[in-house]
Amino acid sequence: MRRKLAAGNWKMNGLRAGLAEMDALAKAHPAPAVDILLCPPATLIAPAAQALSGSRIALGGQDCHQETSGAYTGDLSAQMLKDAGARAVILGHSERREKHRETSEEVRLKARAAQAEGLMTVICLGESAFQREATNTLDIIGAQLSLSVPDESTGENLVVAYEPIWAIGSGQTPTPEQIGEVHTFMRARLERRFGSGVGRSVRLLYGGSVKAENADEIFGIPDVDGALVGGASLTAQDFSPIIEALEKL
Ligand code: PEP
Repeated sequence: MRRKLAAGNWKMNGLRAGLAEMDALAKAHPAPAVDILLCPPATLIAPAAQALSGSRIALGGQDCHQETSGAYTGDLSAQMLKDAGARAVILGHSERREKHRETSEEVRLKARAAQAEGLMTVICLGESAFQREATNTLDIIGAQLSLSVPDESTGENLVVAYEPIWAIGSGQTPTPEQIGEVHTFMRARLERRFGSGVGRSVRLLYGGSVKAENADEIFGIPDVDGALVGGASLTAQDFSPIIEALEKL
C-alpha cells in the first residue's frame, strides 16, 4: 500500500511570518492519515524545522546541487538541506528546467546526491502546451522519466510528480483521462525498469492547479497517490481541504 502524500511547493514565497501558516496547518492535522510535506524557500527550512518539531509535517527543499560542498556560489547541497531539517527535496521542477535550463541528466545527478544523503526526492516531469499539441506527450514523459530518475531509486526515496507545464499556476487542469493516461504510463515504465516491487511502491503525484474544488476528482484517478500543490499550499485554509480530500480515500 502506498501512503498518500500531500506536498506543498511554496516556490519563492514566504517570509518568517509564513511560519504561522505552517503552525496552523500542523495544528489542523495533528495525526494525519496521509504524509504531509511542505517545501518552503530554503531560508525557512531551519526555523520551520524548529517550529514544527513534534508535528507530523515534513519539510523539503526545492532544489539542490549535485556536489556536497565546494565553489558553487549561491547553491545549496543536499547535505545542507538535511542539516537544516529537510527530509526531502523537489528536483526538476519545470520552472527550474525552463528558467535555469536544467536538463534531465542534471536532475538525475542531483537526485542521486540527495538520495545518497537520505533525502526523499520528488522528481517533476511534464510536457509544455506546445509539446502536447505537436508531439506525443508520453514520449516526452518517458524520456524525462528515464533520464531524470537515478538507478538507485526505491519506493522510499523516490516520488514522481507529473506536472503538465500548461497546468501550473494557470487554473487549467488536464481531464481525468489525460492525467490517468500519463500516470498509468509512468507506473508501467517504473515497473519495467525497477521490477514490480519497487515500481509499484513509488508514489506518483499529480501537480498543476490542484485546489479544494478539483481535489476529489483528481484523487479518484487510478495511480494518483497525492498532489504537488503550488499556490494552494501557501495557506492552511487552502491546503487543509486538499489534505482532507486525500485522507478520505
Ligand atoms: C507547482 O508549482 O508545482 C504547482 C503545481 O503549482 P500550482 O499548484 O500553483 O499550479
